[in-house]
Amino acid sequence: MWFEGSDEGIVDFIESLGSSPDDVKSIILTHGHPDHVGSLPELIDITEAQIFIHEMDISLLERFTGLKKESIRNLSILKGNENIDLLGETQVIHSPGHTDGSILLYNRSRKILFTGDVLITNSNGGLSLPKQEYTKDMEMEKESVKRLARLDFDVLLPGHGPPIIENAKSKVLRFIKEVISQVTV
Ligand SMILES: [Zn+2]
Ligand SMILES: [Zn+2]
Repeated sequence: MWFEGSDEGIVDFIESLGSSPDDVKSIILTHGHPDHVGSLPELIDITEAQIFIHEMDISLLERFTGLKKESIRNLSILKGNENIDLLGETQVIHSPGHTDGSILLYNRSRKILFTGDVLITNSNGGLSLPKQEYTKDMEMEKESVKRLARLDFDVLLPGHGPPIIENAKSKVLRFIKEVISQVTV
């Protein structure tokens, strides 16, 4: 969680891993909501990191951080399908619905999928769609979930809730069958 004022907690966490803010090479924003970008201004000051965000969420980023894109050094604007080094080659997949510029990050060789808020988990580890009130287009969001289920992954790392560390794809397929398909029929 990256609301405004989270920077000290983030730095404490980085240091708990035996690293320092200088070691942070990339900050990849899965989308532009305030709970994901709120502390970016401070993190820009205390790291040298490259900042990545999809072009369609730049307006949210500007609104929720007060930054102007021209003033963000090391800003990389994504369109989808780029490869970023994140535990090895990781593909950016544009997955609109929750926001226009939501992205997934897919590390094919490690079978890891970072879902941002496109697909989250609840406290008992079950999958969940993001809340309707925070989601721009729920039908498009559901289509994005169905599309991501075509990828081959074992580990799902959501923007909220505990990670799923094994058999994630089969859990997603079951979720689609039991929850999403039922709702849309
Ligand atoms: Zn969100
Ligand atoms: Zn969120």
